[in-house]
Amino acid sequence: MENKKVILITGASRGIGRELALGFAAPGNTVFINYLKEKDAALEVAGEIERLGAAAHHLQADVADFLGVQAMVKQAAEKAGRIDVLINNAGITRNRSIIKMPPADWHDVMRTNLDGAFFLTRECGALMAKNGGGAIINIASIIGVRGAAGCANYAAAKAGLIALTKSAAIELGRFKVRVNAVLPGFHLTGMGKTAAKDYIERARAESVLGVTTDVAELAAFVVFLSQTLTVSGQVFNLDSRVI
Ligand code: NAP
Repeated sequence: MENKKVILITGASRGIGRELALGFAAPGNTVFINYLKEKDAALEVAGEIERLGAAAHHLQADVADFLGVQAMVKQAAEKAGRIDVLINNAGITRNRSIIKMPPADWHDVMRTNLDGAFFLTRECGALMAKNGGGAIINIASIIGVRGAAGCANYAAAKAGLIALTKSAAIELGRFKVRVNAVLPGFHLTGMGKTAAKDYIERARAESVLGVTTDVAELAAFVVFLSQTLTVSGQVFNLDSRVI
């Protein structure tokens, strides 16, 4: 990729976010690693990125907290001068059937997975518009398109994230800010690793290739997408399950 890009990735201390952060670790780039609780993990990712020749900084903030997001984006922009790429990756699950789901579990997932992406898009979108453009990539899920039993909160938040992607792309296109969503497929990392065994087996059985998806392919795709200049408002399914 053309280097000297400034990239902010939410939830980059582990799982998919970690792999995405490493994907951007090219010499000249500056990668901001946001995390909620796992400071040591974020420091480890930062160290790995520096070994690969990029600059890295860890930033603690709860993406569901608007003032915290504002402070984090301000801190990153002050340090690096701008933000070129935002990856809204932070996400949680609180899986229960609808009739047993405590309202707090519904709200927690909506706040982290959807409100958080809105707060980041609002703050970084304004910066990017002022700086002549940028790329926002939202990490959604096939569940946001298909729905699934036991995670209506997650499905609704990811469906909302896809709608946010399209609306933000329409609004921000005139500022050369591209906004796209990626559906990662089913990865045996992060929340994928902790999914119920029968869910993992079903994902493999539904895959037309009989596999779970490769996080290195996902990272390479997201880096590529961040460099495209004429693609916006799209949803890319990186799965081998057919929608
Ligand atoms: P993960 O391993 O559980 O990691 C979650 C990351 O998000 C961690 O870095 C965590 O920080 C951070 N985080 C959680 N709540 C946060 C908050 N309120 N503010 C800031 N950071 C927060 O998850 P993952 O499996 O890599 O998933 C990453 C994204 O991919 C999610 O959006 C998920 O929905 C999506 N996805 C995953 C899969 C899959 O198969 N794994 C499939 C489809 C979509 P701490 O380490 O500090 O707690």
